[in-house]
Amino acid sequence: MTEPVNRQPRYWEEGHLSFSGGGFIGIYHVGVAIAFKKFAPHITSRKVLGASSGALASMCLVTNMPIDQIIKGIATMSTHCRSLALGPFDPRFSIFNIMKTALTENACEDAHQISTNKLFISLTRATTLENKMMSDFESREELIDVLLASCFIPYFLGLVPPTIRGVSYIDGGFTDNLPTHDENTITVSPFAGMATIRPRPSTSKLPDIIYTPENAIRMVKTVFSPPPKALAEVCQEGFKDALEFIREHDLFACESCALLPNKPETRSCRRCLDLISEAENAGV
Ligand SMILES: [Zn+2]
Repeated sequence: MTEPVNRQPRYWEEGHLSFSGGGFIGIYHVGVAIAFKKFAPHITSRKVLGASSGALASMCLVTNMPIDQIIKGIATMSTHCRSLALGPFDPRFSIFNIMKTALTENACEDAHQISTNKLFISLTRATTLENKMMSDFESREELIDVLLASCFIPYFLGLVPPTIRGVSYIDGGFTDNLPTHDENTITVSPFAGMATIRPRPSTSKLPDIIYTPENAIRMVKTVFSPPPKALAEVCQEGFKDALEFIREHDLFACESCALLPNKPETRSCRRCLDLISEAENAGV
C-alpha cells in the first residue's frame, strides 16, 4: 500500500477561493474579495466556489460586478430592514424578493456564460438532502435561480424552494457550507471554524460561533441592529484578514505578473514592490 501524498498547497500558481455561507455577515467576503482583487488578482481570475451568501459573493467576483454596487445593495437591504418594526422578522421584509430584484437588475447579460465552469455553487437537494455542486448555467435566469436556491433557508426565505431543471433545492450550507476543490482551495468564512481565512478571535468583533444556517438567522439581529457602520467594520475585517493571508504566503502580483504561470523567483518588479509596500502601509 502506498502512503497518501501530502501535497503542499501551491497558492500562488493554483490557489482559488471558496466563500462559505455566512448569512448577512457575508459582507466579510466583500472585504476579502477587495483585498484579493487588488493584491493578488491572479487568484480571483480562477474558479470560485461558494455556498449560500458565499455563492453571491463568488458570483460578484466571477462576473466582476463593481464592489460599490454590491455594498450599495447590502446597505439598501439593511436600511429597509431597520425601517421595519420587527426588522428581518417583519412580515413585510422579503429578502427573497429583494435579492431576486438586485440580481436581476445587476447581473450582466452574459453572467451565465462567464460563470459556466468557473463558478461552483453548493446546493442541497430538498427531497433527499444530498449535496449538489452546480457549475453550468443554461441562461442568466437559471444562474439567478441557482443563487437564490443556494441561499434558500426554508421558512425564513419562503415556503416553496426554487426549482432548477425540475428539482427543488435549498441552502447549500445545510450539506456543504465550505466547498473545496483540492489542497489549493483557499476557504473563507466569517464564522469560527476551519476556514483558511477567518476572523481572528483576539481582535474580531464577530461572535466566535460555528456556522449553521440556524446560527446565520440568529446573527441577523446582531448585524442589522447596529448602524450600517458596523457592516463597514465587518467588511474591513475581511479585508485585513485576507491581506494578512496574502502577506503570509507572499501571494502579491501586479496585473502584469498576474499573467505569469509561476511566482517570480525574486521580487524585482517595481509594481509588485509598490503593492507590497502599499500593503505594509495598510497597517496589517
Ligand atoms: Zn509585478
